[in-house]
Amino acid sequence: MTSGRGAVSIEFADAPEAGEMREIADGVFWLRLPLPYEPGHVNAYLLRDGDGWTAVDAGLFDEPTCAIWRRVRQRLGGQGITTVLATHWHPDHLGAAGWICETFGATLATSESEFLRGLVVQYMPKEEGDALERGFFLSHGLAPDETELWVANGRRFMHDTYRIPPTYRKLASGQTVAIGGHDFRIAVAGGHSPEEVMLHDAGRGLFFCADQAGPRIAPTMAVQPSDPLGDPLRHFLAGLDTIAAMSGPDDLLLPGHEAPFRGFHTRADELRAFYARRCHQVLAACSEGPKTANELLASLFRRRPGPIWIGFLIGEALAYANNLVARGLLERQVDHGIVRFSMRP
Ligand SMILES: [Zn+2]
Repeated sequence: MTSGRGAVSIEFADAPEAGEMREIADGVFWLRLPLPYEPGHVNAYLLRDGDGWTAVDAGLFDEPTCAIWRRVRQRLGGQGITTVLATHWHPDHLGAAGWICETFGATLATSESEFLRGLVVQYMPKEEGDALERGFFLSHGLAPDETELWVANGRRFMHDTYRIPPTYRKLASGQTVAIGGHDFRIAVAGGHSPEEVMLHDAGRGLFFCADQAGPRIAPTMAVQPSDPLGDPLRHFLAGLDTIAAMSGPDDLLLPGHEAPFRGFHTRADELRAFYARRCHQVLAACSEGPKTANELLASLFRRRPGPIWIGFLIGEALAYANNLVARGLLERQVDHGIVRFSMRP
C-alpha cells in the first residue's frame, strides 16, 4: 500500500482562458468562468454524457457567464447540455444553472440541502432576511453602522442566481450515477455549504471535490445567522476525511476554484494544520479576556475587511469559536444581547 502522502502538484501549468474548453481526461473538459470578485474565476467541468453533456457547476448568472455558455453550447453540438450538476447553492456555482436549464432544456441535479438552501435564499422575504442578519451581527459585536452597510450591500452578490427550477434530480451520498459510460459515486460534505456534492470516478481516478479543497486556497466556512450555534468547521473536517477515505493516492482532484491537482492527502494535512492554527489564534485572543466575534477579527486577519466581506469573516471567526466551545475549550456567554467567548475557568 502506498503512503498516500505525495506532494501537492498542480496538474496544468496554465488555466484555460475564460470560455475556453480544455480536455483533461477522455470526454472531460475544464472550463473557466469569470467572477467579478476574488479569486476572479470559478471552474466548471463538462462531461460527455451519451449524445449530450453534463455540466458540473454553472458560474454566476451574469452577462459574461451566459455569453460563454451560449458559445459553449454552439461548440458542443448534439443535444448540448442535458444536465447541470450544481455542487452547491453559492451563486458562483448555482447562479446560471436555472438559466441554462431554461434556455437549453437541461435538468438541474444537486443534493436536497443545496436545492432547499438555494430556494430559502431566493425566496426569503427581504425584510425577514435583513432582520435576521441585523440581529445576528449586532449580537456578535458589529457596530450598528457597519451592520447596516453589510445588510444593505454585503449580501448583494448572494442574489446573482437565476430562478432555481421547480424540479430537480436529487443526488445523495453513496449513490452511483452513470455519466457517459463511467460510474461516478456521489459523496457529500458540509461546512462550506450545507451538503456540497462531490463526484468520484474511481475507475479513472477523478475526484470532483467542489469547494472542499483547492491546491492553495483554504476554503471558507462561516456560521450562518439561521444556525448561530452551528459548528461548520467540524463538518468541513469530516468532509476532508470523506475524500481521504474514498480517493486513491494518485487521484486527480478537480476543484471549484484554482486548478486540478494531485496529492490530496498532503493537502488535507495542510488544511487541517491551517484550521488548527486559526483555532489557536482564537484561543490566544480569548486568553487575554472575553471577545466578541467582531473583536476576534483583529487576531485572525491582517486587515479589517470592508463592508462587502465583513459578515463572511465574522461568520468565519465564529466557526472557530463555536468549534472551540463544542470541544470544551471556550465558553459562550450572552450579556445584554452581546455574545462573547472566554476561556473555560
Ligand atoms: Zn465557490
